[in-house]
Amino acid sequence: MRIIDILNQDQMSLSFEVFPPKKETSFESVRIATEEIATLKPAFMSVTYGAGGGTSEYTLAVAKNIKEKYNVPMLAHLTCVSSDRETVRRRIQDMKDNGITNVMALRGDLTPELEKTDRSKWDYRYAVELIRELKKDGSFCIGGACYPEIHPESANQREDIRFLKEKVDAGVDFLTTQMVFDNNLFFNFLYKIREAGITVPVLPGIMPITNANQVERAIKLSGAFMPQRFRAMVDKFGSNPDAMKQAGIAYATDQIIDLYANGITNVHVYSMNKPEVAEGIQRNLSSILGNTF
Ligand code: FAD
Repeated sequence: MRIIDILNQDQMSLSFEVFPPKKETSFESVRIATEEIATLKPAFMSVTYGAGGGTSEYTLAVAKNIKEKYNVPMLAHLTCVSSDRETVRRRIQDMKDNGITNVMALRGDLTPELEKTDRSKWDYRYAVELIRELKKDGSFCIGGACYPEIHPESANQREDIRFLKEKVDAGVDFLTTQMVFDNNLFFNFLYKIREAGITVPVLPGIMPITNANQVERAIKLSGAFMPQRFRAMVDKFGSNPDAMKQAGIAYATDQIIDLYANGITNVHVYSMNKPEVAEGIQRNLSSILGNTF
């Protein structure tokens, strides 16, 4: 099923993100965790693509396994900046051959090694080039990334939104945001991109922080603003793993309820291969989502 058709349905949707193993020996534990998440029957699941493309075949393997065994619609991520055109085309063909027709088209982060190379020789410099290539094929439903708090390489938000519009005009069907911990930042961003003529569905990305060690990494990765309410929660419960897990699930639930209450019908959760976290959030929302547990 195409993700855009799910997002356009007249009902709430909650989707979960998982990541592939880094090596063959971890495949089994990832399979178990992702299958547990699939039993929750989310609206769809997404599988990330390892930075630099090193784990690309596992992305497809995880997505295919869940799709075939659980019939959950799957979104496979694909990055382009560190790959040559031939490799990207092969990945696209592999997805088609395996029945994966929803793709999150990303540039990928610039590694220090990549930064040292000559940009004029890169086959892909921006996600928009991958999006154009996928669009030409005609069979994919395409997602793109967006940044309510501005992409770190952008000079300002106006420029960031101008390039975002270019991606959408190239064929993006829906957008998912970088993690946000303050819904007001998401609402402000949505207002601005709608004003800029971007009309596709936008899924806020919610990251449940369920242990204190995640905080630093999340800030480093996203540059996201942590509201005082959030920091107080981590200060208070961070040293007690059980309490922190429960508090993190509650904070994410609260964010999602506020989003739904304010008319946002589709929400994406960075569930990070943690079935108990995905299940906790979904159970908290069961009456809102209309599911029974
Ligand atoms: P782009 O859209 O290409 O934007 C990158 C920067 O270039 C921005 O500053 C943009 O404003 C600017 N720009 C865009 N077009 C132009 C242009 N024509 N001229 C000049 N400047 C331009 N990374 C992974 O490795 N694997 C994943 O699975 C993954 N999943 C992600 C999922 C989501 C929802 C998000 C938000 C991010 C994800 N990332 C992932 C991280 C992502 O790869 C990085 O944030 C990366 O730095 C940018 O990717 P992009 O697709 O947004 O790039």
